[in-house]
Amino acid sequence: SATLVWFRKDLRLGDNRALVAAIQNGQPVIAIYIREPQNAETGPLGAAQAWWLHHSLKSLADALQQRGSRLILRSGPAATVLEDLIRETGANAVHWNRRYDPAGMAIDTEIKTRLRQAGLEARSHSGFLLHEPSQVKTGSGGPYRVYTPFWRAIERGGDPPPPLAAPDALQAPANWPDSDALESWKLLPTKPNWAKSFEGIWTPGEDGAQKRLEHFLKVGIKGYRSRRDFPAADSTSQLSAHLALGEISPARIWHGTLDLPDAIASEDIVHFRKELVWRDFSYHLLFHFPTLREENWNAKFDGFPWVKNQTLLQAWQQGRTGYPIVDAGMRQLWQHGTMHNRVRMIAASFLIKDLMIDWRDGEAWFRDTLVDADPASNAASWQWVAGSGADASPFFRIFNPITQGEKFDPDGAYIRQFLPELAKLPNSLIHKPFEAPTPILAKAGVVLGSTYPAPIVEHKLAREKALAAYKALSADD
Ligand code: FAD
Repeated sequence: SATLVWFRKDLRLGDNRALVAAIQNGQPVIAIYIREPQNAETGPLGAAQAWWLHHSLKSLADALQQRGSRLILRSGPAATVLEDLIRETGANAVHWNRRYDPAGMAIDTEIKTRLRQAGLEARSHSGFLLHEPSQVKTGSGGPYRVYTPFWRAIERGGDPPPPLAAPDALQAPANWPDSDALESWKLLPTKPNWAKSFEGIWTPGEDGAQKRLEHFLKVGIKGYRSRRDFPAADSTSQLSAHLALGEISPARIWHGTLDLPDAIASEDIVHFRKELVWRDFSYHLLFHFPTLREENWNAKFDGFPWVKNQTLLQAWQQGRTGYPIVDAGMRQLWQHGTMHNRVRMIAASFLIKDLMIDWRDGEAWFRDTLVDADPASNAASWQWVAGSGADASPFFRIFNPITQGEKFDPDGAYIRQFLPELAKLPNSLIHKPFEAPTPILAKAGVVLGSTYPAPIVEHKLAREKALAAYKALSADD
């Protein structure tokens, strides 16, 4: 007999409770990853994250091989695949770490029941989040809807359990079951290989995640609170994509922030932990409001007159809106598969409020293009910007893309990195080339409408239009 460990969004050997529990069974361990059919509630696997997943699975398979083991890859509905593997290997136990998207949870609950009815051991474990969403409750026993009291509850609860060490070796079965070849899953782009530019930036896998954490704790966390909003500063952890596929546990990150040198201010440490807790909060919302990705949390927004305009949507997707901070962000997304958090907020606000395009179109685009695409954080953040979410930024808070750019990228370094066609404009005009006098544009080699687009909407007018639509909505209350 053997114990199966079903890897999902926990592609790591360290701090992996399912793996540790499986080893404690004292019999051979078979690690498996199942490519399940598309999950309706979380949407299809995005192309950027598929690239990441390929490399992450490869890294996990290598780490298992170094310990005398293997990663078995299979495709199909999880229940069928597991039953096949149990039959083929004689396994009598299956362990996994929990997931919290509604469709995934429904599948897992059914599988657990079926396996237990068949007399097998089926056990799920925690570790994807700092705390189980079902266990963080308000005084009256309900879910939290506001972040600050949620944070306080987490803070009161103390540190999460310390991370568990990775096993040195795994007991192999006498015979290995068949595995799909990773290449046959075709997770990587072929022609053109648009992910080429990801390679110099990202190192998917557990080792890459650990190195990012160490680097951040050494150089990034100092001054995090004040520097984190500046997209050119490279001051955030860049751990979100590693977290999205569970290459590192949030508990390990949290514990990394304990016992830091005195030179690091506690306000920086606490602020970083608070960001990490936004991830837990997003899952708390998804857990208690399973349609977070599809429906407005606040039903008042159901009547919002969203504009359906493919040309405007494409201009936004391709970074051709004529507003440099928005376009630089959208180009960063193309080139690096990520976008700085401040710029995500500005670009999302622009889509929703300046273009009045449904936040769900933005959510879908981000899901396809972000390496950290996450069903909870993405949906919760889009609804936060739209104003339709729980504890959301009010709709009337409309980011001004010019002043936001000037404030958070004052010397235009971020713009120059992603929009080289504007690089020669002076700092005073780089966030508003449309206000530049013709001789200055000519000197910088910028031809509006040719080398760089003219604005696709006038922000001031667009803002008034959006506010009027929102007001009409409020009047209907
Ligand atoms: P750091 O500043 O180092 O923060 C540490 C960790 O805290 C992050 O890795 C992340 O796990 C978590 N975190 C930080 N901010 C948030 C937040 N607002 N909500 C939830 N968790 C947070 N984050 C995703 O992981 N996946 C998404 O699909 C995603 N979509 C977003 C869409 C929009 C419109 C916006 C405004 C934000 C979105 N975010 C998403 C949140 C945030 O932008 C990223 O988590 C952050 O930019 C990742 O960079 P970092 O790891 O360097 O963050």
